Amino acid sequence: MTTRIPATLIAGDGIGPEIMDATLAVLDALDAPFDWDRQVAGLGGLKASGDPLPQQTLDSIRRTRLALKGPLETPSGGGYRSSNVRLREEFKLYANMRPAKTLIPGGRFDDIDLLVFRENVEGLYMGYEHYIPIEDDPHAVAIATGVNTRQGARHILDYTFRTAIALGRKKVTVVHKANIMKALTGIFLETAYQLHQEKYAGQIALDDVIVDACCMKLVINPWQFDTLVTTNLFGDILSDLAAGLVGGLGMAPGANIGQDAAIFEAVHGSAPDIAGKGIANPIALMLAAALMLDHVTLHDKARRLRQAISDTLNVDKVRTGDLGGKADTATLAAAIVARIRNG
Ligand code: NAD
Repeated sequence: MTTRIPATLIAGDGIGPEIMDATLAVLDALDAPFDWDRQVAGLGGLKASGDPLPQQTLDSIRRTRLALKGPLETPSGGGYRSSNVRLREEFKLYANMRPAKTLIPGGRFDDIDLLVFRENVEGLYMGYEHYIPIEDDPHAVAIATGVNTRQGARHILDYTFRTAIALGRKKVTVVHKANIMKALTGIFLETAYQLHQEKYAGQIALDDVIVDACCMKLVINPWQFDTLVTTNLFGDILSDLAAGLVGGLGMAPGANIGQDAAIFEAVHGSAPDIAGKGIANPIALMLAAALMLDHVTLHDKARRLRQAISDTLNVDKVRTGDLGGKADTATLAAAIVARIRNG
């Protein structure tokens, strides 16, 4: 008998519930042994209990240490602080891994297989921000302070080297801006070379590139890269760029790994422009579920899910609108379920 695995489920805001239903359908077809504890957060949390990150949700993740999460809405400019950022801090989810792998051949870029690791709890995301009012302008000056620590850099870099080696990758590239932010991103670069020298030299290659050049190189020749690791803000931007190389945000999953929990999600947001229409692409969240299956060492189910997705897209040619197809979310999910059942 398969051991049941308790896990927290947050459907999320906007398209979240639609893509989560689709993802649960494929996990059911795989007989994935998760015992879901359904919780809310983001706008859903605010509406249900007046808190975008309710205590009950935190307690659930603390208990299960494992969660599958839909996108959570965060107001821009003002309003409440991002529940995603708070979750990362609360559970010390210091590593964010975002694979970008071509699933549909023949696109603008073929055969992309990139791994992007993002430091997830430090840098410019710490929220040390304020305005200085001058005369009658309350927002005359804006100030943000970033914080990177040696220990924080070692955590994410060590995780990156270990994971990259375990996955058979050949090279890690550190992305930084140490020519300008000499301390803030210089510490990350310096720690990478130190750690590599101490523990990983001979097992995997290491080089580095400045973030602006990296963006240009990723667009001109992405195949020169293998595994990228970088600080929080650069990682956010570069992983979206990498997602664009493989067909857009609808194809990009993310794993938030930490000391106290692991939370799996799509890289994209709640897509309010298409929410409720039933047309969202659920593949990013399904691929996040595949990462979650790998995390709990159900590698065969993860492999079957990825294969079913690939066959549905490439053999059956069932695709959502963002991939140039006509299928809605439910039709795509049903086609993947059929592939799993017949596979
Ligand atoms: P977004 O990712 O929600 O949408 C950007 C564009 O991509 C939109 O045109 C959208 O329709 C499209 N898109 C996104 N996911 C799609 C999918 N699965 N299928 C088809 N099209 C898809 O980014 P945004 O509009 O900048 O953000 C909306 C909200 O989401 C904001 O409140 C933001 O804070 C939040 N957000 C949450 C997360 C998260 O929970 N991890 C991540 C990013 C943004």
